[in-house]
Amino acid sequence: MPLPQNDARRAALVKGASKAKIKALVNLSACTGCEVCIAVCPVPNCIEKFGEDPTSFGVYVNYDICIGCMLCAKDCPWDTIRMVPTPTVAGHQTSLDSQIVHEHAVYEKPELVPEEIRTFVDKQPVSDPIVVNLFRKQNPQVPGMMGPK
Ligand code: SF4
Ligand code: SF4
Repeated sequence: MPLPQNDARRAALVKGASKAKIKALVNLSACTGCEVCIAVCPVPNCIEKFGEDPTSFGVYVNYDICIGCMLCAKDCPWDTIRMVPTPTVAGHQTSLDSQIVHEHAVYEKPELVPEEIRTFVDKQPVSDPIVVNLFRKQNPQVPGMMGPK
């Protein structure tokens, strides 16, 4: 459950995050929903879960407040987070919007997703070949599942 957030603090976070050169991208094909990343992320509400439905496990990153600190990528026990250059996720509000293949249950069950990201459900996956290649290079396990580190 997201914590309430002070408007001024969120504004400060957004300002700081706008300078980040890299952002965290979660590979939903392999995310187990273990929440380790949520525990280590220093920014409140930056990484959130979809819901309690067992078919909706997985997390997403809010790009407007991700400061690119890499803690989540370093600590994810399933190695499912990659840091990507911020320009490659330009215009994306969350890491959901940066998924090449919208195969996760969350895309079939938009009612499980908070209002702020429902609008992404109908968006087409990224098709720019440059971005696709970059994504695949940095997410070599897609769409396969990786084991624990
Ligand atoms: S730590 Fe990794 S596997 Fe666990 S919820 Fe976060 S992204 Fe998913
Ligand atoms: S890079 Fe840092 S701020 Fe961004 S989601 Fe990961 S832990 Fe949070």
